Amino acid sequence: MLEQSETIPDFPKPGIVFRDLTPAFADPETFRAVIDDLSAAFAGTFDAVAGVEARGFLLASALAYSTSTHLVAVRKAGKLPGEVLSEEYALEYGTATLQLKPSSLRAGARVLIVDDVLATGGSCRATARLIERAGGTVAGIGLVLELTGLGGRQALSHYPLHVLVSEP
Ligand code: IMP
Repeated sequence: MLEQSETIPDFPKPGIVFRDLTPAFADPETFRAVIDDLSAAFAGTFDAVAGVEARGFLLASALAYSTSTHLVAVRKAGKLPGEVLSEEYALEYGTATLQLKPSSLRAGARVLIVDDVLATGGSCRATARLIERAGGTVAGIGLVLELTGLGGRQALSHYPLHVLVSEP
């Protein structure tokens, strides 16, 4: 399914092997298959879709549109105006912060989190916490590519998880 994706060594830093799914998303049949698969995997369980900046936005937008559900943006620190909730999480070196506007979620919303790649699970876990702190529940987490062996699946074990492709 991800034949058109690319693997780039030493990006964004030396020693990191980056999997770029955007060439696969650019292919209309692949992108439709990805959205349809995520939609079917969680059918009827969610009424909002949260995308994690930035490639998660591509998936969340199409999924919210195709399922007539609410679109929620989870952004990197400093991008959202007004009242925001913040969650800091660990990176290999240092920390990162994701933010959510609580007003972007209806009380009791059942939220599906989507992103392109699962590595350590830190960003999806921080997103899940933001949704719960804002009064929503996490209906599930949908990811296109799981990089196994980095602990992501274990970090997200409290939530229904669906991945389209797993690779070492
Ligand atoms: P995690 O938080 O460690 O699971 O990393 C996942 C987040 O980092 C997602 O938002 C991904 O978009 C991004 N990410 C990590 N590794 C890669 C990669 O190899 N390709 C594309 N995105 C990645």
